[in-house]
Amino acid sequence: MSPYNDREVQAAHHEATRKLVTQRNLLVVEREASNRGGKCEDCGGIHDYRLIWHHVDPDTKRQEIGRGIRNWSVEVLEEELLKCILICDSCHRLRHSTMKGVRAGFQVPLL
Ligand SMILES: [Zn+2]
Repeated sequence: MSPYNDREVQAAHHEATRKLVTQRNLLVVEREASNRGGKCEDCGGIHDYRLIWHHVDPDTKRQEIGRGIRNWSVEVLEEELLKCILICDSCHRLRHSTMKGVRAGFQVPLL
């Protein structure tokens, strides 16, 4: 008799699958980042810390890339990456502060 009940086996299988999907999807993301030159698409900077996938149009955003990689298919992931630009933390913050300004109706000077 198995030491596991069905629910435990199912949970273990689900967890193992999620890890494999994440590992595969990380390779897809790394390949795409490499194809784009591995640098910030806004300032051109090559940074030691990780770059951020920023959705240009939040209305078409399915989910953050960092969350989606845990369960998306390669096709969905690639489709989502095409909606994004790869930028550094500084440029990401600048874009979000500008987006908030636009939403609030303020004129935000472009630097
Ligand atoms: Zn940048």
